[in-house]
Amino acid sequence: MDQAIIQQVIAALPVPVVALDAEARVFAANVAASRLLGDNLTDRPFVTVLRHPVIVQAVDSVLDPAHVDPPVPDPNLAKVESGGYRNRVVISARGRDLPVEVTVSAMPTKFGRGALVVIEDSSGIEEAGQLRRDFVANVSHELRTPLTAMIGFIETLRGPARDDPGARDRFLQIMETEAARMNRLVLDLLSLSRVESEERRRPAETVDLAMLVRAVTETLAQQALANNVRILVEGADSPVYVAGDADQLTQVFHNLVENAVKYGGTGGLVTLRLSHIAHEPSLRGPACSVAVIDQGEGIDEMHLPRLTERFYRVDSHRSREKGGTGLGLAIVKHITSRHRGKLRIESEPGQGSRFTVILPADPERR
Ligand code: ADP
Repeated sequence: MDQAIIQQVIAALPVPVVALDAEARVFAANVAASRLLGDNLTDRPFVTVLRHPVIVQAVDSVLDPAHVDPPVPDPNLAKVESGGYRNRVVISARGRDLPVEVTVSAMPTKFGRGALVVIEDSSGIEEAGQLRRDFVANVSHELRTPLTAMIGFIETLRGPARDDPGARDRFLQIMETEAARMNRLVLDLLSLSRVESEERRRPAETVDLAMLVRAVTETLAQQALANNVRILVEGADSPVYVAGDADQLTQVFHNLVENAVKYGGTGGLVTLRLSHIAHEPSLRGPACSVAVIDQGEGIDEMHLPRLTERFYRVDSHRSREKGGTGLGLAIVKHITSRHRGKLRIESEPGQGSRFTVILPADPERR
């Protein structure tokens, strides 16, 4: 094939591609390749561009299949349909180790047999894999804790406590609490996965935030009373419209107010403040905000950036004691971002916390 055509074709490709002549010298490289491997790649021997034994051997095998050195191809080389090789390796690029997938294929050129080297950055896939493994490990751990407790109590009820009605009632009570915790965890996991799957679909209903927030405080009135907390709602006398999903927004404010009562309840007062914002710079337009403010013990600054991670807790023991799943704020964050909104968390240890959800104002009902 004509060198100029090869150059044009690889220039149009978005992934790093390097074309080699029969002597394993680079005769064409695209912009993505330069970004990954450095400038001035052409006319250089390939080994000076990407020095990885497995890849260098793949190039040798493709350029001269009869003379492979060493004679037995590296077992790490995976053959692909085109007769070339595809391999997952870690290369050193841009000053760091980068996991990539490299495909080396034979390519006829005007001067004989050449090779095409395509390099795909697989760090995203590796990271996603790591995140998934961490998530599965976390979920298993969270489910195992109540499960182990329940198995222990079942054994005790069958054995030593068989004829002890007092112990039986006490243990059944604990088992009920543990089962309820597992149920909450499963429900939170399901709602997280539902929100994630819908994240790209913008909600279309028109929701009156003022009414929604008042309804949330009513459902939590009992819990607030039990914790000696008064809930005050400000700015909800007239409707505040946003484009949203009413069930999901209810979940957002339910989680935030419940947290304020649970963790910030020592201050005795939780305030929900609705405001209109004429121009919110982060959303580049008019917005509405709902701040959930407590006067509890607050959160140390070092925890703030991680609070919305799944299963992150400031104090795991305390969260479990209060029936928390560690997923509440992760759900809040996902729902807020589905609504193209922002979640702002501010806290002062000893003074209290403020969780503010900022949503774009409904353009049709402004
Ligand atoms: P959990 O189920 O543990 O409540 P969340 O995701 O809702 O999970 O919250 C994560 C952690 O953030 C909680 O365990 C708690 O440590 C902290 N937290 C959340 N809200 C507040 C608050 N209003 N005051 C103090 N700490 C809070």
